[in-house]
Amino acid sequence: MYLCQTMKKEDLFKRLVSHCKEYGYIFQSSEIYDGLSAVYDYGPYGVELKNNIKQYWWKAMVQMHENIVGLDAAIFMHPTVWKASGHVDAFSDPLIDNKDSKKRYRADVLVEDYLAKIEKKIDKEVEKARKRFDDFDEEMFKKTNGRVLQNQEKYDTINKRLVEVMTNEDMEGFKTLIEDLKIACPESGSRNWTDVRQFNLMFSTQFGALATGENTVYLRPETAQGIFVNFLNVQKSTRQKLPFGIAQIGKAFRNEIVARQFIFRMREFEQMEMQFFVSPGEEMKWYHYWKEFRLKWHKTLFPATKLRFHDHEKLAHYANAAADVEFQFPFGFKELEGIHSRTDFDLKSHQEHSGRKLQYFDSEKKEHYVPYVVETSIGVDRMFLAILSHALQEEEVPDAKGGTATRVVMKIPAVLAPIKVAILPLVGKSGLPEKAREIFADLKWICECQYDEKDSIGRRYRRQDAIGTPFCVTVDFETLEDNAVTLRDRDTLEQVRLPISELAGKISEKLNFSNLWKEEAAVEA
Ligand code: ATP
Repeated sequence: MYLCQTMKKEDLFKRLVSHCKEYGYIFQSSEIYDGLSAVYDYGPYGVELKNNIKQYWWKAMVQMHENIVGLDAAIFMHPTVWKASGHVDAFSDPLIDNKDSKKRYRADVLVEDYLAKIEKKIDKEVEKARKRFDDFDEEMFKKTNGRVLQNQEKYDTINKRLVEVMTNEDMEGFKTLIEDLKIACPESGSRNWTDVRQFNLMFSTQFGALATGENTVYLRPETAQGIFVNFLNVQKSTRQKLPFGIAQIGKAFRNEIVARQFIFRMREFEQMEMQFFVSPGEEMKWYHYWKEFRLKWHKTLFPATKLRFHDHEKLAHYANAAADVEFQFPFGFKELEGIHSRTDFDLKSHQEHSGRKLQYFDSEKKEHYVPYVVETSIGVDRMFLAILSHALQEEEVPDAKGGTATRVVMKIPAVLAPIKVAILPLVGKSGLPEKAREIFADLKWICECQYDEKDSIGRRYRRQDAIGTPFCVTVDFETLEDNAVTLRDRDTLEQVRLPISELAGKISEKLNFSNLWKEEAAVEA
């Protein structure tokens, strides 16, 4: 059973954070100095999971597409890059302070949280009705129920005002909206707010020895610009024709106003981005293609019920269409990935600011033009949080005495799990450790393994469950006679006996990443 079914959502989230620390997934940065807000370090299991997520993304995007190639651009870029991209002038969030609690908030998030409460009320009505009627028609109920309609109207009106103040950058209107909704500071309950003002999220630092304004460089707030400025270098050196894509994984930095929710919103984080260059006029076709492809990728890891699209009404200055893939985190549905049709804004702007042509020669049409771009952009850390919050579960399992026991288990998809196989001698003597080490020496060539002989076998299984290890290989006294071992499956708890010679093949088969895609395809069929 999922933890979220047995525990309050806030408890699940706290549990997840402490589990991450206890089992070496994530530590607060500089913890011995009381930490640095919204900065985290990945521990021994965390780094493995993170690497596996990145590899899974890279395989699906680069390895599986002959027209997508990789890039690893530097974090520092020429300062004019950020002028051209619009980040110097427009990469800001609306900020508001509460005068009593001295707490700082993002004005849009305060209103979004208010909207989420209305959404919750609607969901509650739907769930109540679902229990009452056998042949429940959700669509019909939402269209006809008075209370739902009232709440939906309220939601739409507020959302419209939010979009308006955001689009018009109307900071006064923003404050009026917050006052009209009587939004109070979540910390103090006070409604004593400052004015709303824009706050630029870019970190800056000095380049070289002289600390003058001219030497100011920025820590990149997104990886995409490294791809745009290298567009022609990559296209020419790889002789790609449109449409083609450039993929990149790397760090990004944002001086987020409110750093909450663990690794959901960090000041230093990692992005996996792909810019797909297309002929002008073809961008909508590819926008829909990438929306569907990215959703399919997520569906290989999560049930469809935990995923949804959110199409943007307010578009960024560079976009003509945008959608988020939202995931149901313990604190509600939130953005996990963005898919944006970025038009030719970035390339054109870099062309203007650099004075260099960034055009593609279309040999069929015999003309030069600036391509349009469709982008997919996902945070590695947010993906990590999504994986773990879905994986962490608590369930009743049979114990050795014929009763039941509670186990905490991380059902991380085997392909992504930090440790794939634990090799466990039943006891730490009588030749079993030697045999187990032989198996370890064999299997370590194909995947990340762990050898463990401390504590009872039951405790060792629990430890591996908590880490999320999908397979345990147990070496017992019979192994010395028949060269066979027991292979335990983390999720089904099934134990099968098989010859050591078949172990590597069996495990490799289970770790084959194409299986995930086949399973997803089977669900769709
Ligand atoms: P949000 O609205 O949550 O601030 P965003 O729309 O600004 O996100 P994008 O600029 O589209 O985000 O960035 C693409 C992806 O990068 C996001 O979908 C998210 O997964 C990730 N991301 C963005 N900001 C952060 C952050 N501060 N910490 C962790 N991941 C982030």
